[in-house]
Amino acid sequence: MLVNKWNHYFMSIAEESANLSKDPKTKVGAVIVHNKRIKSTGYNGAPSSFPDDQVPWDSSDDDELINQKNTYMVHAELNAILNYDGQMADLKDTTLYCTVSPCSRCACMIAQVGIKNVIYKEKYHRKNETDATDRIFKLSGVKCYSLDSEYNIRREVDDDDDYYHRWFF
Ligand SMILES: [Zn+2]
Repeated sequence: MLVNKWNHYFMSIAEESANLSKDPKTKVGAVIVHNKRIKSTGYNGAPSSFPDDQVPWDSSDDDELINQKNTYMVHAELNAILNYDGQMADLKDTTLYCTVSPCSRCACMIAQVGIKNVIYKEKYHRKNETDATDRIFKLSGVKCYSLDSEYNIRREVDDDDDYYHRWFF
């Protein structure tokens, strides 16, 4: 099978965006696309006004909330939404590429802003998060796909064949 050049292109940009993250351990990138055009990009990081040296980068999930890294992180998917320099309504029916599948909080934001498709490369390692994300996407009508080694989409959450053939380029 041939490599799907568009999926490869957009996922490569998501990966390049991830490389900008200052998080030494977890680098995640996201790209929002509509009609093969990039509307926005994002990567995980602290709010731009927050000093990076005040983020507890080496914390664990067992630490107190104020000492946990994740408390200070804006995730890549949300940053891609927030970085969009236009009307939020423009993000309706777009596709979001992300290097790691979204957490449940980002899944809610993705659904709320009306993004229609999510394509991820790696599955998020926390099963309780991915189960919640699957449920959020299913019930709110967001289609979620992973990619195979040739960057063709592999269906996991959704099994509506008509839908798959209608939207996918
Ligand atoms: Zn998230």
